[in-house]
Amino acid sequence: MKALMRMVRSTDDMASCIEVLRNLDAYLDQEIPDQRAARRIASHLEVCRRCGMRAETITELKASLRRLAPTVDAGALDRLRHFARTLEEQGNDR
Ligand SMILES: [Zn+2]
Repeated sequence: MKALMRMVRSTDDMASCIEVLRNLDAYLDQEIPDQRAARRIASHLEVCRRCGMRAETITELKASLRRLAPTVDAGALDRLRHFARTLEEQGNDR
């Protein structure tokens, strides 16, 4: 256990891609209760282009959903949500 702790210490101030992608949705909704975890994700998004792009895409999607929600039909909303989920699942595979 101590060896493991030492191994992860070098990246302790930054979340991994997997950690970020798992929590990205909650992070973008500002639903991460742990301030330190939220900061780790923020640092990661600053340096990791792939996660940063993904965060931007999901932010855009969420903004579109909010803009369109009152007028758009339920089918289109479902397709958008499905697309966002697909992005997240792709991230979790790697
Ligand atoms: Zn990343």
